[in-house]
Amino acid sequence: GSAEILQQLRDKLSPQGDVVSPRGRALTEEVFGAPLTPVEVVQRICAEVQNAGTEALLKFNRQLDKADLTADQLRVPAADLAAAHAAADPELIASIQRIRDNVATFQQAILHRDVTIEPKPGVTLTQRYVPLRRVGVCVPGGAAAYPSTVLMTVVPAQVAGVQEIAVVAPPTAFGAYNQDMLATCHELGVTEVYRMGGAQAVAALAYGTDIVPAVNKIVGPGNLFVALAKKHVYGTVDIDSFAGPSEVIVIADQTARPEFIAADLLAQAEHSPGSAILITWDEALIDAVSGEVAKQLALLERAELTLDSLEAFGALILVRDEAQACELTDSFAPEHLHIETANPRDQIAKIKNSGAAFLGHHTPVALGDYAAGPSHVLPTGGTCTWAAGLCSNSFLRSGSITEFDESAMNQIAPDVERLAEKEGLTAHARSVSIRR
Ligand code: NAD
Repeated sequence: GSAEILQQLRDKLSPQGDVVSPRGRALTEEVFGAPLTPVEVVQRICAEVQNAGTEALLKFNRQLDKADLTADQLRVPAADLAAAHAAADPELIASIQRIRDNVATFQQAILHRDVTIEPKPGVTLTQRYVPLRRVGVCVPGGAAAYPSTVLMTVVPAQVAGVQEIAVVAPPTAFGAYNQDMLATCHELGVTEVYRMGGAQAVAALAYGTDIVPAVNKIVGPGNLFVALAKKHVYGTVDIDSFAGPSEVIVIADQTARPEFIAADLLAQAEHSPGSAILITWDEALIDAVSGEVAKQLALLERAELTLDSLEAFGALILVRDEAQACELTDSFAPEHLHIETANPRDQIAKIKNSGAAFLGHHTPVALGDYAAGPSHVLPTGGTCTWAAGLCSNSFLRSGSITEFDESAMNQIAPDVERLAEKEGLTAHARSVSIRR
């Protein structure tokens, strides 16, 4: 039955970050002297950064990331950004430029434009969109380096017209010391990069310190501490969605190539943790994919981690038919959905819930992760039923503009006065009647 399969599928969602790992727990005990929950850790970190600013940032850099920096080393010097760019592989820079163009073209095309209507003579109503002035971008750097995340966050913000973009990354080899990440920032014209990560970086962006001016919105993926910190500071600033560990559902039929599907599942599991689930109504495909996964796993650089992830968060599911595959997928609401069937548009029409969908045998999710145009910062863990992936519109806020002339006001006045009087707000009613 679908309900049982769905429950089993939900169990296959990878947990957030490394919080349950013994290493994560030991670090918490070491730093805070008590077995605090991640929520308590984040509350403490945010409060300390809010109260002590730079001093707290330096302390958490030291304690959580083993980076002993001084206050004037928190911001990456312009010379370091330029040097990373100069030393970068020219082919990498060329790829970054092409990807930037792809992302900018798509993000520009979907950008909201002001809408003005004149529903009646003398009435002008406008919805206008203005870019946020200053945003913060979290680039992870604990477990891997993500120059692609710089592209997938910064370019949409730039397209929206954001004036100031501050990038934060942990003071680690995969983070703010990663030369490819720094070269990408430089190529995109980002000049503000800070060596700070985790909850402390989110707090610094939200509250501001003497070194990092506060932002209007914080976006970008991260581990559990980053996600919880974003939730904590929401209200002081805006945030994007909760972009946690990656997931994919692959829907496939007999036209799919088992070796392609295996490669797609492995690509997601490689995030480790990363959930990778195949749903098919073609029984033969299950065995074929299983065999291919085993074969291809051996060739991977991160084979061991990927296998761990597959064992915990991988599944090959045989369903009755196409309808059940669509129903299950819609209920699960995956971050990534890849449909490898003869007519993928038939299935996507039946599935409303997915952060990003990829159609056909020649559209691996990695195209979207790295280069196609839509951002790879996507809501995970079923949150795409109410949240959207990051895009240029995430960096706009809307406001309305209303204008009536005298005769239009006279026409609408009785309705306004009636409702205002019903609510007992007679000053509201009078502000209209006095003009008549
Ligand atoms: P990260 O860079 O997000 O966070 C590292 C920071 O976490 C450290 O700087 C430290 O300050 C803090 N931290 C670690 N352990 C802690 C503890 N015990 N107590 C307090 N703070 C602690 O980490 P990461 O490991 O690189 O994780 C990034 C995550 O983002 C991965 O799960 C990755 O899959 C995900 N990701 C998602 C997307 C997406 O679009 N959905 C894109 C890229 C990455």
